[in-house]
Amino acid sequence: MASTTKSQTPAAADIEQILARRRQFMGSQLYMFYDPPVHLMRSEGVWLYDAKRRVYLDAYNNVPHVGHCHPHVVEAIARQAARLNTNTRYLYNEVLDYAERLTATLPAGLDVAAFVNSGSEAVDLAWRMAKAHTGQRGAIVMEEAYHGWTDAVEALSPGGKSALAPHVRVLAPPDSYRGPHGPDVADRATRYAADADRAIESLNGTGQPPAAFIADPGFCTNGILEPLPGYLSQVFDKMRAAGAVCVADEVQTGFGRVGSQMWGFGLHGVTPDIVTMGKPVANGHPLGVVVARREILESFMSRTSFFSTFGGNNVACAAGMAVLDVLEREQLQANAQKVGEHLKAGLRGLQRKHDLIGDVRGLGLVIGVELVTDRKAKTPASKETKRVLNLMRDHGVLVGYEGRAANIVKVRPPMPFKIEHADQTTDAMDKALKAL
Ligand code: PMP
Repeated sequence: MASTTKSQTPAAADIEQILARRRQFMGSQLYMFYDPPVHLMRSEGVWLYDAKRRVYLDAYNNVPHVGHCHPHVVEAIARQAARLNTNTRYLYNEVLDYAERLTATLPAGLDVAAFVNSGSEAVDLAWRMAKAHTGQRGAIVMEEAYHGWTDAVEALSPGGKSALAPHVRVLAPPDSYRGPHGPDVADRATRYAADADRAIESLNGTGQPPAAFIADPGFCTNGILEPLPGYLSQVFDKMRAAGAVCVADEVQTGFGRVGSQMWGFGLHGVTPDIVTMGKPVANGHPLGVVVARREILESFMSRTSFFSTFGGNNVACAAGMAVLDVLEREQLQANAQKVGEHLKAGLRGLQRKHDLIGDVRGLGLVIGVELVTDRKAKTPASKETKRVLNLMRDHGVLVGYEGRAANIVKVRPPMPFKIEHADQTTDAMDKALKAL
């Protein structure tokens, strides 16, 4: 295991100099993680190294899905970059081999793929497909959802906004910790799903019925919610009855992260009409994918002239293929299940020691630890969460945060995270909570 050296907070002068250059060349508004921010130099597996050669355990980044700088992915990228890198206006096998292998991991019927360069682009394209296929213009998403930055998708990302676009409605999350229907309510899935009736009716009333319902199956921006059996299947049924297609945004939950399933929607026993993929697809090489039912893609293609210059280029596909190789060879989905359960148990142990922890929940290797200043009132411990992140950083473990009140510590590491890394994370959180 890599070891951390204590008391090596980066020299303030170096950080100030870099921040000044960022302001000069990138403007002043770019938000950064941690205070002071971390100046990274290199990475390997689950480890990140800063400018002072300090080692951090990466318990947050899901983009380097199979591990930072995984040699098999690096080699695949280098080999393909040295041979051919072009676009889908030409014939080549890499994109076909990748599409065939990727769609084979999905349920029957989800068998054609379109390639772009990011999660935002994938959701943007899915949204365009949904409108073209249904002829409808409305959208239903979860409260606090984030699906990306493009103009169209930003409107489908209501987190933090005071007003929704006129064609968008949101559903209240099926949150068993904070929502109105707690674990003691027997039919709570039906009660939460009933919100879809209200949203559909409201859109129909404006003459813009829903073209798409889009949801992240891990409800990550809602604070990472464990699946509520029956909820998503009821919502899907209602959406389809209203003429909408159902989109699973797997940018956070895909590729085995949730442990028991390759895809997050599998946790809910549903099959979407469209699946969007980003972040982990190619271990950090830019690649976004939309997999859809054939008739949806064909409806869209017959009405547009979609083409993305970089989408599906040979190098991106080689990287995507290498990620699937490593996932299989290193059994990373099973690892996510095993280590995720161990980590959750460790964090639940901390909950018995620290009153600040109100709830621990998650799926495989995406886990949320909700911090509250009062367990009964569930008052979000937003300030404390920020301090916990910085203190854990001081103890050599990088985690993030999530949720409307920014009071949920988010642990979502690269997939080769081992039991000892889980224990190191729990130990760092214990120390941080003690030091508060
Ligand atoms: N969908 C989800 C669920 C996401 O988490 C994100 C990124 N946080 C996106 C879409 C957008 O992806 P990107 O930043 O690659 O455009």
